[in-house]
Amino acid sequence: MNESFLHFLWQFQRFDKVNLQTTDNESISVLKVGKLNSDSGADFQDARLLIGDVEWAGSVEIHLKSSDWDIHQHQFDTAYQSVILHVVWEDDKPILRRDGTKIPTVTLRERADENLLEKYHTLMEYKATVPCQNQFGEVDDIKKIAMLDKVLMKRLQDKSLVVNHLLTENNSDWEETAYQILAKNFGFKLNADPFLSLAQNLPLKILQKHRDNLFQIEALIFGVAGFLESNHKEEDFDEYRKNLQKEFHFLASKYQLHHRVLGEHQWKYLRLRPANFPTIRLAQFARFIHENINLFSVLIHIENVKSLGKILKITQSEYWLNHYTFKKKAEGKVPSLGSSSVENILINTVIPLLVAYANQKDNQAYLDKAIGLLEELPAENNHITKHWQSMGLNIKSAFDSQAGIEWYNHFCLKKKCLECTVGVAILQK
Ligand code: SF4
Repeated sequence: MNESFLHFLWQFQRFDKVNLQTTDNESISVLKVGKLNSDSGADFQDARLLIGDVEWAGSVEIHLKSSDWDIHQHQFDTAYQSVILHVVWEDDKPILRRDGTKIPTVTLRERADENLLEKYHTLMEYKATVPCQNQFGEVDDIKKIAMLDKVLMKRLQDKSLVVNHLLTENNSDWEETAYQILAKNFGFKLNADPFLSLAQNLPLKILQKHRDNLFQIEALIFGVAGFLESNHKEEDFDEYRKNLQKEFHFLASKYQLHHRVLGEHQWKYLRLRPANFPTIRLAQFARFIHENINLFSVLIHIENVKSLGKILKITQSEYWLNHYTFKKKAEGKVPSLGSSSVENILINTVIPLLVAYANQKDNQAYLDKAIGLLEELPAENNHITKHWQSMGLNIKSAFDSQAGIEWYNHFCLKKKCLECTVGVAILQK
């Protein structure tokens, strides 16, 4: 038995309510179960009950044993002063309010449905990454769509927290924040951290002063990234690199950047295709900044996926069209950003920015735009989306795939089936 199952019993009133009484033999009628609360405070808020002849409004707290009330120290917490009913599996101790009155308690152990309990245990014990996989097909599509909506919203809000965090660090400067998020995204998984450090050490405000000069932007970016330090052999510096170094030394003195230079060793190449080397990504990032200096406005006013594709259709400077690194010449032409990179930037930069901005401005239009963009974008193809498809779930856009990833990782793998509309539907059958 666990508390989540007791929440489920209470929320859906799945227990025998005939002659429902408190442990002190007072009759109880549930007028309103209350709203499940995932924040601090009692488990169900705004419940209404008739206990004896008196109608009560307040919250309901649920525990396996009534003594858990004291163990969790609710007696000292004012958030629990409004509890009107303690619902427990087992009553092992009377619980008193601060004023000495007893909190009415009801036990569910002898009222729970045996079949329901067995169904729940079977689901929890089934050894599969999606434990309900054999029953999934029997659940109405509407429940699955409701879950996709719910988990997508959770995923979007979680992703926007990264934006909020940086926004606070940047004193609510949206342009700097968008620039840092985008930089992190340009590093993709392997180089996300050094890319973010680079953007934090080299403020957009400095780059904006050189908006018309791609060479200076490259000098600043490669310089702060640590590629222009003098600890290399003379032959490692070709003409282009020497010129960048000279320019960077001048600009670094002007903006006092010397102490902000990263170590070149921070950039990772392992298992990357040469076209994804950090040097190529830095060159593409430099070009993107050069062409879109008012990043935030550009990104949140994206009309559709195609328009983002156009903006990101950037070609790095001449040198980086035939070099993978400062030392390694490319045999053919180095490609520009591919469509999968554009999709990645949309999902991990544009969407979180839109959601965070929608929240801050309390403006639904930006949230709708984020959702619209995800619906327009093709679904990702990975082992999770394939798993859902094999179970008959229609994954047709990035909206579905993003939701599916969240659902799988944060509900199925963690066996949070009682928080899943499909799990609840299976138990309700
Ligand atoms: S979380 Fe939902 S979909 Fe996943 S296994 Fe549980 S009931 Fe099934």
